[in-house]
Amino acid sequence: MDKLVIVIPAYFEEEVLDSTISTLTQILEQLSEEKKISGGSTLLVVNDGSTDQTWSIIENYHKSNHFVSGINLSRNYGHQNALWAGMTAASVDADLLITIDADLQDDPKSIIEMVDKYHAGYDVVYGVRNNRESDTFFKRASANLFYKLMNKLGVNIIPNHADFRLIDRRVLKQLLQFPERNLFLRGMLPLVGFSSTKVFYKRRARQAGKSKYPLHKMLLLAWDGITSFSEVPIRSIIVFGFLLVFLSAFYVLYGLIRWATGHTETGWTSLMVSIWLLGGIQLIVIGIVGEYIGKIFKEVKRRPRFIIQDDLYTKPKPPRMKN
Ligand code: UDP
Ligand code: MG
Repeated sequence: MDKLVIVIPAYFEEEVLDSTISTLTQILEQLSEEKKISGGSTLLVVNDGSTDQTWSIIENYHKSNHFVSGINLSRNYGHQNALWAGMTAASVDADLLITIDADLQDDPKSIIEMVDKYHAGYDVVYGVRNNRESDTFFKRASANLFYKLMNKLGVNIIPNHADFRLIDRRVLKQLLQFPERNLFLRGMLPLVGFSSTKVFYKRRARQAGKSKYPLHKMLLLAWDGITSFSEVPIRSIIVFGFLLVFLSAFYVLYGLIRWATGHTETGWTSLMVSIWLLGGIQLIVIGIVGEYIGKIFKEVKRRPRFIIQDDLYTKPKPPRMKN
């Protein structure tokens, strides 16, 4: 029977954690009664350095409820790192793993659907929200803009999917091989590959407590997503450079005509022409430097060159006969 671990990052979630743990425990009970997961399945709550009651709530549950376990981080590392910590801990023995926020904005009932998809043979199941009514107008508009921008920059992410997903053992193992420090799991999962599907759900309002993602954290995550996954910004410098040099050619022509027809102050033409031309040349040069930095950036990430899904070649061979 397969062991399910549900990883729940929690940062100052004392107001909502009780109801979250009991809701998710019920789902684990149901799934294990239906023999879809093993009885040893657990919730793994990651306390991301909150100093309220979050950790003591986890400890208390752990004493009385075998479905509840947790890890306590030494300080606040942020949502993505907290998820990583939970996934690393779970990778020891989890056969399938689900990540879900502590505020139960993502529909816990979808977990059952996700596990069914896992048994149907999918390695990754993305939770995708099909409504954003619970979000403010601003959050909706900014999210839409973000998905459009990422698309333009050539980054493959699934619209309206956040960090509510199921992955199986082999995807987890491969994901944890990614050595980068700036995590953006939404962008990394599609790079791992394997067979995937989606389940759709209605995102609700936060059950209790406040959002731990104020505007500046949201922008930081978006910025991380862009700069860790796309070289388009740094590469576009060179395009601007060439554009400016091209435009300056017209300016040179215009300046020369003005000068030839005696319409200019002394020195104006040479000043204008050198400003435009030099500006363009400088951008081209910066762009070339950027090109190399882009390559270095790609190299230092040391992402795997490929990931094998099935292997018929290196299967363990039968032992040789001794003579
Ligand atoms: N979270 C975390 N560390 C942080 C910020 C948030 O572990 O530094 C957790 C938080 O407890 C929640 C999840 O990440 O379980 C998502 O945060 P939140 O619900 O506040 O974000 P929102 O849904 O408002 O975007
Ligand atoms: Mg939330």
